[in-house]
Amino acid sequence: PSAGEPLLQVNAARKEFGGLVAVNDVSFEVNAGEIIGLIGPNGAGKSTTFNLVTGVLHVTRGEIMFRGERIEKLASREIVKRGIGRTFQHVRLMPTMTVLENVAIGAHLRGHTGVWRSVARLNKAEEERLMFEAARQIERVGLGAHMYDEAGSLALGQQRILEIARALASDPTLLLLDEPAAGLRYKEKQALADLLRKLKGEGLSVLLVEHDMDFVMNLTDRLVVMEFGTRIAHGLPHEVQNDPAVLEAYLGG
Ligand code: ADP
Ligand code: MG
Repeated sequence: PSAGEPLLQVNAARKEFGGLVAVNDVSFEVNAGEIIGLIGPNGAGKSTTFNLVTGVLHVTRGEIMFRGERIEKLASREIVKRGIGRTFQHVRLMPTMTVLENVAIGAHLRGHTGVWRSVARLNKAEEERLMFEAARQIERVGLGAHMYDEAGSLALGQQRILEIARALASDPTLLLLDEPAAGLRYKEKQALADLLRKLKGEGLSVLLVEHDMDFVMNLTDRLVVMEFGTRIAHGLPHEVQNDPAVLEAYLGG
């Protein structure tokens, strides 16, 4: 889709866990070239929504469309293949492997099971192509100077950016990030925001699940606010920020 056209459409998505309605008929869109923030207090249903879009969980009812096709029943590896890349809420790097190896293996893992077996099966040319692509993504996110450092030796902010490089290696159109700014220092948050703006400039769309209001305020094109599984507000960040329902949700009523 070209800029401004719907890329991801979540239509009345619902997820129940036993008697608990974690996501209550939530709808929103991400248009091509946008950075959308999905925010709300703890337990609002943000991560569950994220997991529905990435195929980690499946809707109880409702539909999720990506590039005009239904994806709500697909497995996560199939969703990755169609162009949705993601990071995890908690860092999932292999700390004693290098930055380069982490991205190369992450890229190769997509659509595969049995990491070591599938890596061992690579021929020389495939391995070189994988390493070349991984190095390109590491340069793209600004971690080129750390290519051969152990991932575990990087600061938390750099590890988060490394996870983004790994997600980019699957060549996504839409990038989903779950609380990427959590636990980061002010400067690290700024570096992360700068990277996301740069990626947006390159045509990538981003759906950002975030608890931190300040981080999303100057970065996102629109916000979707959830509380108790329900979408309570949506719109431009400065409008949403002053919405009484949002203020109440964030201040705890
Ligand atoms: P958020 O990410 O906004 O903090 P979550 O999506 O993680 O919220 O959780 C929304 C609600 O769903 C919470 O009440 C949580 O306890 C519940 N929940 C999340 N995942 C599960 C699960 N796998 N089984 C049962 N309840 C869950
Ligand atoms: Mg969460």
